Amino acid sequence: MRVTLAGSFAQLAKKAEQEKPAISVSKEPVKNPPLEIYKLGNQVLRNPGHHISKVDSSIRDLAKKMLASMYSAKGIGLAAPQVGIEKQVLVIDLDIENPTTPPHVLINPKIISTSASIDTYEEGCLSIPGVYLDVIRPSSIKISFRDEMGRPKKMNADGLLGRCIQHEIDHLNGILFVDRVAEEELLKKELQANGFSYKDVQTIK
Ligand code: ZN
Repeated sequence: MRVTLAGSFAQLAKKAEQEKPAISVSKEPVKNPPLEIYKLGNQVLRNPGHHISKVDSSIRDLAKKMLASMYSAKGIGLAAPQVGIEKQVLVIDLDIENPTTPPHVLINPKIISTSASIDTYEEGCLSIPGVYLDVIRPSSIKISFRDEMGRPKKMNADGLLGRCIQHEIDHLNGILFVDRVAEEELLKKELQANGFSYKDVQTIK
């Protein structure tokens, strides 16, 4: 076997390509974000995301547009149904002030197991701006998913990341955090104060 110079350059270039993050998006807010984020009351939020059978450049392009829209709205998580796209794609970045931390891109995420322990934590949502209320969820989860290159992965998550993933996976099933708020009177008050209607909540008993 003979390794030509051109061949080794090609190999190096290929290696660099593989090591480069597949998705790189500026965290600076943009004036005209690529995607509109729909608000509580819009039916699209209730449409579940479909399983993605092939992770290709169109999915990576969607994730990039979702990230740019999320950063512009100063959010830390966004699911495809929030931008009216019925696909199981979600993006998360808990470090939006740091330009170099890579975001999480989760495709077909699925909760495999949850902890018995639970936490109460205040949540908010880009689809329900201004409303922040306590939600009870498992403290930690184990998930399976595919990354932006389609590689199967598993991950344990607790704290804010675990919370955020659970919130976003709910979106993929047409569920909003207000559906899980236990304090009904407070929820009604907060929704009204922010221009939303309680009739758009689908309480999970
Ligand atoms: Zn949300």
